[in-house]
Amino acid sequence: MSHHPLLHPFASPATPEADFVDIVAGSGAVVSDSRGNDYIDALGSLWYCQVGHGRTEMRDAIVAQLDSIAAYNVFDPFTNAPAARLAEMIVEISPHPDGRVFLGTSGSEAIDTVLKIARLTHRLRGDDDRQIVITRTGGYHGTNFGGTSAQGIALNREGWGDLVPHFIEVPSDDIEALARVFSKHGPRIAAFLTEPVQGAGGVVMPADGYLASARRLCDQHGALLIADEVICGFGRTGNWFGSQTFGVVPDLITFAKGVTSGYLPLSGVILSREVSATLETVDGLLRTGYTYSGHPTCAAAAIRNIELIRDENLCARADHIGQGLSAGFAAMREDGQIDSYRGVGALWAVDLGADAASARAALLDRGVIVRVIGTALAMCPPLVITDVQVATVLDALTEVLSNR
Ligand code: PLP
Repeated sequence: MSHHPLLHPFASPATPEADFVDIVAGSGAVVSDSRGNDYIDALGSLWYCQVGHGRTEMRDAIVAQLDSIAAYNVFDPFTNAPAARLAEMIVEISPHPDGRVFLGTSGSEAIDTVLKIARLTHRLRGDDDRQIVITRTGGYHGTNFGGTSAQGIALNREGWGDLVPHFIEVPSDDIEALARVFSKHGPRIAAFLTEPVQGAGGVVMPADGYLASARRLCDQHGALLIADEVICGFGRTGNWFGSQTFGVVPDLITFAKGVTSGYLPLSGVILSREVSATLETVDGLLRTGYTYSGHPTCAAAAIRNIELIRDENLCARADHIGQGLSAGFAAMREDGQIDSYRGVGALWAVDLGADAASARAALLDRGVIVRVIGTALAMCPPLVITDVQVATVLDALTEVLSNR
């Protein structure tokens, strides 16, 4: 039997095209499929739709840019105002207002770029031997070769042949294990790479003080701290960046997803002033970048998206959503319907302690989209989800779990 030409990511290649849910429209926190079913999008598509679907403000900003020029590269000697303005806006809200921003289009590109920048920074500082990047079990850093090599989800690393060398994985919350790797390999360590909250790995919160201790270890051993904020960035955890929520200042931050709420693809790397100053000593060109780095229409979408997050106080709204969800989860925990729950801002998971795939399917039938991760269900709704919609999600979950 031949298959449909569309080969889906993270799906069985044998699944018939007709078995997929065909999403055709969206408004706010609701999306609709081609069969006329509506769903509350409690995952914000794939952890990215901060401002909600179908925003005319986003459409208008994109169309206005298309009306002048859709795309032009920013390789030397070119630039464009949307890319430059976006970089200014991003550093302003970041922990590095005097830093710089490198742009790409996917989280995976941001990860590969940040890994290269970390190594280059040390080399420019005369430290050629610093190539090791420490990563954590359960980390997800995309699927390019750099990100695949940095994966803490073993299944995603397997089957592709040789990966990039010099990655060392430590157990997710074991600060002693991290300290041991630093003592053993200190002068050869370029960076420690971590998500503030591990998203695809299961919405795993850092243990109290873990990130601050990691920061101290990096400082003691001359390594860079890289925060992969592809999910945590742009309001998700209650602040612009997850590192702000957890009170650490990384040297480098990767972002994607929520920066445009997914209206158009855009990603990037924020560099501290110190890292920027080192890169500014490069002799000649910074020999990395993408055709669509600084894509003006994607940048116009990001600018409007950041304005909406700011003007609608969506960072604070994330905390409000989290209060609603966690109160519901607490009641379910009390009733023994779930094993545990965890999260921050508007990024949560409930652990059922048992098969979550059938619960996910039952929720889909009841018009709620969540993601299965092991025995957990993850939620990451648009930051414009209403209180009534949060209540509907909780009611559907309670109903599904009481029917088990
Ligand atoms: N880093 C993190 C933390 C992510 O969650 C993801 C995607 O989910 C990526 C990197 C890769 O992003 P992309 O799929 O846009 O390449």
